[in-house]
Amino acid sequence: STSRNRSEALYQEALQHIVGGVNSPSRSFKAVGGGAPVFMKRASGAHFWDEDGNRYIDYLAAYGPIITGHAHPHITAAITAAAQNGTLYGTPTELEITLAKMLKEAIPSMDKVRFVNSGTEAVMTTIRVARAYTKRNKIIKFAGCYHGHSDLVLVAAGSGPSTLGIPDSAGIPASIATEVITVPFNDLEGLRAALDAWGEDVAAVMVEPIVGNFGMVMPKPGFLEGLCQMTHDNGSLVIYDEVISAFRFHYGSTQTYAGLANHEAIQPDLTALGKIIGGGLPIGAYGGRKHVMEQVAPLGPAYQAGTMAGNPASIAAGIACLEVLQGEGVYEEMERLTIKLTEGLQASADRHGVPLTINRIRGSFSTHFCDHPVTNYDEAQDTDGEAFAAFFRHMLDRGVNLAPSKYEAWFMTTAHTDADIEATLEAAEESFKAMKN
Ligand code: PMP
Repeated sequence: STSRNRSEALYQEALQHIVGGVNSPSRSFKAVGGGAPVFMKRASGAHFWDEDGNRYIDYLAAYGPIITGHAHPHITAAITAAAQNGTLYGTPTELEITLAKMLKEAIPSMDKVRFVNSGTEAVMTTIRVARAYTKRNKIIKFAGCYHGHSDLVLVAAGSGPSTLGIPDSAGIPASIATEVITVPFNDLEGLRAALDAWGEDVAAVMVEPIVGNFGMVMPKPGFLEGLCQMTHDNGSLVIYDEVISAFRFHYGSTQTYAGLANHEAIQPDLTALGKIIGGGLPIGAYGGRKHVMEQVAPLGPAYQAGTMAGNPASIAAGIACLEVLQGEGVYEEMERLTIKLTEGLQASADRHGVPLTINRIRGSFSTHFCDHPVTNYDEAQDTDGEAFAAFFRHMLDRGVNLAPSKYEAWFMTTAHTDADIEATLEAAEESFKAMKN
């Protein structure tokens, strides 16, 4: 198999200095059998080169932001120009207005925007704003949705249709977890029960309107409509975490996605953004209805600030990325390649008798090693982790880079070509075959 000696050596060195050798636990290979993750040295377009000189076709896309491929020339030029003018001012700049206007135009529920530095910060602040606005404390979230690592949203479900959460991490007080109620995704009755039980304390219902964190999962018809209706009837706010979903499926967000019919009935009060809107540099943003956003300092009593927020390089990269995505037929081409890839993968798995369910939404999809549909977290958990780990390692050895987690999506970029898809399908055919032997 492929030699990755330098990755091995760097991992051993990293372990001595960086906790776990990685700067985000999702980068570790713990979930795919352990050992050294691949240390990448360079990336361009749809490809990575590791420290040993091996090339990989990349479907990780840095967990979503790299939708235009690595080192896209238009984005690189924007970052270079920004850097030459100074990377951080601590004053407002004109380009922040440009990006805010672009976001508002694409996501009409956002009357007002605020830039932060990560998806975590964006989500965390929407909760504070909702609490300030409603003067209530609890939030309802959905099992398996990931909303960053702030205390309140790092709480998982117990079992049962509507349960108070238990912390998913050490260091989160149990008292905080009691402010979070978790219900299954796509389950309006579960939401109903939670609102019946805790309704007058509920500040907000937080949801990934199209899920990206236990596979790619569409809301069932009527789910978002019902969610918005029930939540608003309860005097609570709807928060959409669109950190993954915004600009992923089309130029816009779930709120305006053509795959969902009744846009007026699925408008949230607050939206959290990140990833793609920074073109590969650190960014987050949140926004929403004017009178809700006016809770935020300096206008209102809800405090949120940031030394790095709205920095010129991230803003310039974000604008450049959205400009690329405005190009004619960009999303259609990503979808065309993704259909070719998923159809090929399914046929290949079927040929070798490997159970595989693929959830595809335009240019993104998730692969689940199980033989039934995946519409919620419970169903996603049936994904066979050992089968995925085997597939992951076979694909890596054949030059295909996937996220080292059985739930994680594959992301197409504007840089992938038919040749990449064909090479990936060849690798998959060999991988499925090897898995069966
Ligand atoms: N929300 C969602 C839906 C996410 O997928 C993520 C990150 N994967 C976050 C929030 C947190 O974003 P960040 O890692 O930028 O803090």
